[in-house]
Amino acid sequence: MKFDDLGLSAPLLKAIKKQGYENPSPIQQKAIPAILDGRDVMAAAQTGTGKTAGFSLPILQRLACGRRAQPNQARALILTPTRELAAQVGESVREYGTHTDLTSAVVFGGVKINPQMMKLRKGVDVLVATPGRLMDLHSQNAVKFDRLEVLVLDEADRMLDMGFIRDITRIISLLPKRRQNLLFSATFSDDIRALAKGLVKNPIEISVSPRNAAAGSVSQWICPVDKKRKAPLLTYLIKQGGWDQALVFTKTKHGANKLTKHLLSEGITAAAIHGNKSQAARTKALADFKAGEIRILVATDIAARGLDIEQLPQVVNFDLPNVSEDYVHRIGRTGRAGLTGEAISLVSADEIDLLSSIERLIQKLLPRREIEDFEPTQLLKETTLNHPVRRKKPRKPLNRETNQSNNSKHNNNNKSRKRKSVYGQGPKPGAKAKGAGGGRTSPNKFRGKPASTS
Ligand code: AMP
Repeated sequence: MKFDDLGLSAPLLKAIKKQGYENPSPIQQKAIPAILDGRDVMAAAQTGTGKTAGFSLPILQRLACGRRAQPNQARALILTPTRELAAQVGESVREYGTHTDLTSAVVFGGVKINPQMMKLRKGVDVLVATPGRLMDLHSQNAVKFDRLEVLVLDEADRMLDMGFIRDITRIISLLPKRRQNLLFSATFSDDIRALAKGLVKNPIEISVSPRNAAAGSVSQWICPVDKKRKAPLLTYLIKQGGWDQALVFTKTKHGANKLTKHLLSEGITAAAIHGNKSQAARTKALADFKAGEIRILVATDIAARGLDIEQLPQVVNFDLPNVSEDYVHRIGRTGRAGLTGEAISLVSADEIDLLSSIERLIQKLLPRREIEDFEPTQLLKETTLNHPVRRKKPRKPLNRETNQSNNSKHNNNNKSRKRKSVYGQGPKPGAKAKGAGGGRTSPNKFRGKPASTS
């Protein structure tokens, strides 16, 4: 199938050509005609599948036909969980719309609100936003939704994961009843289905990857190693393998900083990207990485979510994630757009349960490879796929975690508490959150969000 067969207009086809895309990806083949038809869509698609063009192109085409935005109005709203993803989606919308006279804007937290208010003054056809900042702007009458035609929830699973359910529900309640709804999510958990139920009407369901399956073009393996030897092992792998660039995931912000320091001391250019870094530092780190000026980008899950870094050959899990689904998101950073990639996990003996639940999720035992001179003294137990899920008692937070959230100027307790809700232990979507940061009663509560989000 060609882009020409999808019913897209000449200005959009011209922009697609400029991007160098030859053929529509599977999600684009399915989503574009459905969205052009005005249907609601619910799509299971990971980052890297071309989902952004899958919804942006038909939205732009539909908006090109209608009445332009009036002052402070937005005609299409794309909600994303992180600032980086918002910036990326905004950039794509801008590029795809180059040959149209449609306008767009991106708004997210961590930067001054006034320039965003100015941008919205004339009204925009497409608004890309993170939920917290959007609510701030709405409360200051900088944006109106009375003529909103399309709502997109991008990476909806992550939005729930990050505790945005109240904001999302609130935003939805402000929108006109008649509108098109598009919901994109890497996975369809029960919570996502519950959210969809009150949102999409008679949707076309699209799935371009099997439920919770990892990308096929990624070669995944694990490297058993003692915890203390992880940093030297990573240095060895980078140097020995002559890696050009890699994205490395750590579990904590502190861990990301520490590892970055270690790499720099070993003469490897590196930068960390996480929620305690200023937006300017995050933007710079990402830009430097994309420009090839730094070799290793060390990231936490939330900061890395939605990062579109082309042709990334290597992804390393320096720590395994606490939430198995994050493993799938992490390795989605490599092997993108049909390219092959390698995802290596450095696994220490204490991470056996995390490894086991990842393997059960992806229904695959990950091959193990020990590296000479880095063989672990604490053995990593064998795993099996039919190992029963062990119900673990909630543990007391480690000092490290407590310190981290205390040190954070943004309250991360909020995040870790809310995170649970997606995985069945916390409140369901729509349920009232209790405690600090859970309500939205004063503007200060917005600032209780993880720094990386809005
Ligand atoms: P996304 O899944 O939207 O994050 O897109 C992932 C990457 O795929 C982006 O770098 C896009 O520029 C690229 N992309 C999107 N559509 C296509 C296509 N049809 N052919 C090749 N690359 C594409």
